[in-house]
Amino acid sequence: MPRMGARILIVEDEPQLRGLMRLYLERDGHRVTDAGDGPTALAAYDADGADLVILDLMLPGMQGETVLGALRDAGEVPVLITSAKRTDAERIAGLRAGADDYLAKPFNPHELTARVAAILRRTRVAASTQPPPILSLDRGRLVLDPGSRRYTLAEGVTGRLTPGETALLVALASRPGAVFGRQQLLGAVARRPDEVYERVVDVHVANLRRKLGDDAGEPWLIETVPATGYRLVAAPDPQP
Ligand code: CA
Repeated sequence: MPRMGARILIVEDEPQLRGLMRLYLERDGHRVTDAGDGPTALAAYDADGADLVILDLMLPGMQGETVLGALRDAGEVPVLITSAKRTDAERIAGLRAGADDYLAKPFNPHELTARVAAILRRTRVAASTQPPPILSLDRGRLVLDPGSRRYTLAEGVTGRLTPGETALLVALASRPGAVFGRQQLLGAVARRPDEVYERVVDVHVANLRRKLGDDAGEPWLIETVPATGYRLVAAPDPQP
């Protein structure tokens, strides 16, 4: 793998673990900044930015979830959560809050560097490829720019999708009406195929429905196909 150094911000209150993470990441050629609590981390991010934030959820004072929310408000830096909270529900909550990946503690440092490399690869592929064309559905009911991930609904509501939500919707729209299995969609979202991550597809669909005003019971956008997956029911508009 080519060594492409990234700017990584580690937010971790255990000094020993923080040092270990720094060691492994610097050995991979990354430039590391670290912080032991939320306010220090947010100040460091404001000052210098980062290509990736590794965030411990259980921090003294300001909780990791609050830090994650603030980072999400500030921009679109990818966030890898590390936490001793390890139930599926807790993982899903982290991903739903906008984290890009979740690593349960204790973890092997090699697993950490592999996850970091995977996230950076996805981010860089997204940044370096030609932006996909504007997606317009149902005569402009939804218009999405997959490059910026900004969308507009016919009623004037605007907002922004996460990278995962965008990838999922673009994948469904690549073959309107066709049924996609969860594993297939997982491939589009490019996460590791295991049971927890298969549920990521459901989380993304639920988020898309909430943001875009879709109703699972009477969908105009995405229909759930029982025991299989999902399909796009909205009709794509011709390209301008
Ligand atoms: Ca901690």
